[in-house]
Amino acid sequence: MINVSTAVPNDNLIVERQSSILVKGRQRKNQLKCDAESIAGCVSQRACVYCGARVVLNPVTDAIHLVHGPIGCASYTWDIRGSLSSGSELYRNSFSTDLKENDVIFGGEKKLARAIDELVEKYKAELVFVYSTCVVGVIGDDLEAVCKAAAQKHGIQVIPVQSSGFIGNKSAGYRAACDALLRLIEPPGGPRPLNNGRLVKSVNYLGDFNLAGEAWIIKDYLKRIGVEVNVVFTGDSNYRDLKKAPEASLNIMQCAGSMAYLARRMEVLYGIPSMRISFLGLEDTAASLRRIAAFFDDPEMMRRAEELIEQETAAVRPEIERYREKLSGKKAAIYVGGGFKAISLIKQFREIGIDVVMVGTQTGREEEYQTLHDISDDGTVILDDANPSELERFMIEQGAHLLVGGVKERPLAYKLGVAFIDHNHDRKHPLSGYVGAVNFAREVYSTVCSPVWKYARDVGGGLYAAGNKALPER
Ligand code: SF4
Repeated sequence: MINVSTAVPNDNLIVERQSSILVKGRQRKNQLKCDAESIAGCVSQRACVYCGARVVLNPVTDAIHLVHGPIGCASYTWDIRGSLSSGSELYRNSFSTDLKENDVIFGGEKKLARAIDELVEKYKAELVFVYSTCVVGVIGDDLEAVCKAAAQKHGIQVIPVQSSGFIGNKSAGYRAACDALLRLIEPPGGPRPLNNGRLVKSVNYLGDFNLAGEAWIIKDYLKRIGVEVNVVFTGDSNYRDLKKAPEASLNIMQCAGSMAYLARRMEVLYGIPSMRISFLGLEDTAASLRRIAAFFDDPEMMRRAEELIEQETAAVRPEIERYREKLSGKKAAIYVGGGFKAISLIKQFREIGIDVVMVGTQTGREEEYQTLHDISDDGTVILDDANPSELERFMIEQGAHLLVGGVKERPLAYKLGVAFIDHNHDRKHPLSGYVGAVNFAREVYSTVCSPVWKYARDVGGGLYAAGNKALPER
């Protein structure tokens, strides 16, 4: 463990957590501990294994998503998430075997088999995902055997998702989902490169969940420069399209935290290389389009990419500049799922004149934290797998005007009297590409400059007052 006594003030910090927090400029970047299990009792903001798997698979629109577990786990459905579909709406349902005490004692396999029979009969789907949950991990139901028997009985694919608790954290859920997808796309007779080595101008788009139609925006950009999107993993995807995944020439990857494993496996199995891209913010969107065009080494594609970048940037720049004038000098705190998104967000905040004073993730990896450290200003607090009291403390100490995070972070910000932006799967408007960059700037402006914070200050300044610190000026 490192000595943080001269770096992060350690009063009120749980001792075991100190090595997961550093301050840029006071410690070396490789001193941050990450990619490790949460410490018991620390009330981590991380989501569970099942949640990680469900995030990745939920947007497969024509699948039956059956949660084998108590009813509470199944609350995680389309209707609290923003993934859109151009076809089937079956994914909007979340089915559950609703395990009860008797099932825990006597086992839930028969109940699971009956549930699959009933759902397949009613919905005629070609694909069923069966998610394991904590309770199933405890009682030891054999999901593999039940799914195999159901697949043979109905002549469809019934894929177990091994996402029971206790096997790890949200990252283990990502991997479980990717394993399920690999079973789905593997052709009969074993894997082989289906594009026969030809360089078709076609990509798979990994790690976009079509929140508020974001995948459609990016598909349109790629089409305009001459690249077809073969299939999106998994936004607005379906059984038939996912099967065709090995036909693409390149995997481009937005959410690397959830998809890096799948990309690596597809390179081994099908010879498809992968490239990390980001369509968050003007800088990263332009850089990503250029990198994709460069991969195909096609002068006409490069020309069209430059033309698109110039047109789209010119269309949104004046509005973004207007917001930049209003927001210049404000301070933001970031706490999101993956490291790659956090990196893009720091750049995107700079585009609108905002300094990032705290940045953390649920599942960031060492190389992502190194980049976060490199691009952060001195004094920025960088932390992995935080808990609510740490987030509140560092937002107060750093004087943040805004927190960007997900559904679990929203109440923390509001209780402090701090503006909040949802950058997770629950949001309902696109934040990707050029249109997304404007939406982001507009949303930041609307929340940071809202008059409501004046009234929060008038009634006591939220928890900022409890922390004996004045609310930051607006
Ligand atoms: S019971 Fe387990 S699987 Fe279900 S939501 Fe809670 S942590 Fe996740």
